Amino acid sequence: MTTVLISGASVAGPALAWWLRRHGFRPTVVERAPALREGGYKVDIRGAALEVIDRMGLRGQVERHDTGMSAARFVDSTGAQLATMDAALFGGREGDDAEIMRGDLARILADATPDVEYVFDDSIATLTPSADGVEVSFERGPRRTFDLVVGADGLHSNVRRVAFGPESVHLRPLGHHIAIFTVPAEFGEERIELMHPAPGRTVGVYRTAGSPDARALFLFPSPEGGAEHRDVAGRKALLAEAFAGAGWQVPRLLDAMWDAPDFYLDSMSQVRMDRWSTGRIALVGDAAYGPSPASGQGTSLGLVGAYVLATSLAAAPGDPVAGLADYERRMRPFVEANQRLAERNLKGMVLGSAAQIRFQTLMLRLMPHLPGRERIIRRVTEPIRRAATAITLPDTPTPRRA
Ligand SMILES: Cc1cc2nc3c(=O)[nH]c(=O)nc-3n(C[C@H](O)[C@H](O)[C@H](O)COP(=O)(O)OP(=O)(O)OC[C@H]3O[C@@H](n4cnc5c(N)ncnc54)[C@H](O)[C@@H]3O)c2cc1C
Repeated sequence: MTTVLISGASVAGPALAWWLRRHGFRPTVVERAPALREGGYKVDIRGAALEVIDRMGLRGQVERHDTGMSAARFVDSTGAQLATMDAALFGGREGDDAEIMRGDLARILADATPDVEYVFDDSIATLTPSADGVEVSFERGPRRTFDLVVGADGLHSNVRRVAFGPESVHLRPLGHHIAIFTVPAEFGEERIELMHPAPGRTVGVYRTAGSPDARALFLFPSPEGGAEHRDVAGRKALLAEAFAGAGWQVPRLLDAMWDAPDFYLDSMSQVRMDRWSTGRIALVGDAAYGPSPASGQGTSLGLVGAYVLATSLAAAPGDPVAGLADYERRMRPFVEANQRLAERNLKGMVLGSAAQIRFQTLMLRLMPHLPGRERIIRRVTEPIRRAATAITLPDTPTPRRA
């Protein structure tokens, strides 16, 4: 049985493990965190990725964990409502498109792979390829040999660094940073996305259906020198500096930040690579082609990438290198179409001037009354829909599960 080591147990890793099991491979997942990382932020599943979820038989579970968001409400620096819009339109979702917390999706995928070996609290240290496998040393566990190794370990992928070189070569910053952390429920309103646009920086707070707490989200221009060299306290100080003087409930949110259990701050960057495999080592999901949170398509790319990678490997028994080439050929146009969404979306997420904010507010207020309303909405949703469906999924070969 072909053995595959997957680094990363979030979305792409467990999804890949599911499909590899289905095709008769034996996957092992190694995750750096001591346990499955719950919580996080809300992510979208659209188009071809929904089809993958259907083929896994997980649609019902995903629907049961839907965030249930109903509206986005824009507020000014005093908290007064500027405009409101439907949550699905705000998130660029239509039809069956789903929104779910990343942690809930990771839990669903991990629970769906009970026969997969998960190793927590460890990380790959070295990869030594041989003619018919890869010898792997770990930071904690004993050395092992696998037929294939796949990095599904996110934007700052360890496998990418070990096998493909420093991340500075592959990361393309989009000019903005993003921060997100959990805040007490009282900051948000259940099922409402509160947004406060200010010139050059945006703050949001949302609370999903039934959630005991809320999430605060901050977008701002990348600071000079970046944030990579800073520790958590340094990153928090950076965020406080970037939002100094901001109105609405920002000062209270920044106070709450110091107690946040899950503070996240990073550059919005895309991963751009000429190749996603070298020999018997490959990448999937954000590690290979992270489109950035601004695209709203990272989760979908991870799900589709996992499906295509497993299907391509299954279609080339005994020749993983041919399978990896097929994966790349099928996925690249889809990835490029989705990566293109990010910069366009970002322009609408952070507005440059007070005049732009006034114009956006006016458009949102007029929208329900405009005669060409449907056409305007389509102009927002159509590019996302087109990118999300820009791949024909290969058929699933007959399962070889033992
Ligand atoms: C703030 C924010 C908002 C986002 N919003 C959206 C959105 O609205 N819609 C959307 O579709 N996407 C969104 N995304 C992106 C989405 O979360 C990712 O595209 C998606 O989670 C990618 O899944 P992945 O499995 O490839 O990587 P990740 O989810 O990043 O998972 C990587 C996993 O690898 C593990 N890992 C890291 N290093 C190692 C190591 N050395 N060894 C072992 N394991 C390791 C990590 O602990 C993690 O579990 C957002 C991302 C962020 C940060």
